[in-house]
Amino acid sequence: MSFNSLGLSDALLKAIEKKGYTTPSPIQEKAIPPILEGKDVLASAQTGTGKTAGFTLPILQLLSQEKPFRKRPIRTLILTPTRELAAQILDNVRAYSTYMDLKSIVVFGGVNANPQIKALRNGVDVLVATPGRLLDLHERKALSLSKIEILVLDEADRMLDMGFQRDINKILALLPQKRQNLLFSATFSKEIKKLANGILHNPVSVEA
Ligand code: AMP
Repeated sequence: MSFNSLGLSDALLKAIEKKGYTTPSPIQEKAIPPILEGKDVLASAQTGTGKTAGFTLPILQLLSQEKPFRKRPIRTLILTPTRELAAQILDNVRAYSTYMDLKSIVVFGGVNANPQIKALRNGVDVLVATPGRLLDLHERKALSLSKIEILVLDEADRMLDMGFQRDINKILALLPQKRQNLLFSATFSKEIKKLANGILHNPVSVEA
């Protein structure tokens, strides 16, 4: 299996080559095709499996296939539990979109919100966020989630372990009904299954 045969665009293949990846990891092989088809995906994957590229590459492809919006409303929201993970995901998103006209930023708590508010004003296609700061910025009217087309819950089990269930519910209520949903988790407790059932529509299940 090659990245080429997964149906990724030249811009993405170039970025992948620049990263030095030669073959897709198992989770990438399994997750990329259904995501490109617009399906909801439930993925069982630990850190280190290449899961970040597994959802980021097809998302970037889907976003770049659309006509760009003049005002760049946020079209993809990637939720993750910690600022370290959020920063890492942003690095990945930026690296893979090097040859695309897409903007991405990250917002997380524990730092001054003003630079984040300023960055949001310039328009964003992909927002990586931790739940608490996202809600805080929404309350301050620094961002709108009404044009979200793709939602990713990354490390969903850790988000629940860290007590983000209520925040996640609040965020879900702010999103358009019609959207693509991707949920990644290392473990599948009863709580995660319940969360997944409430969010995903006819998901394709994949395992790393
Ligand atoms: P992740 O599981 O997303 O945190 O990725 C783990 C590490 O694997 C990161 O350092 C990635 O840059 C790297 N990686 C992701 N996909 C591939 C691939 N197909 N080939 C080689 N390395 C990869």
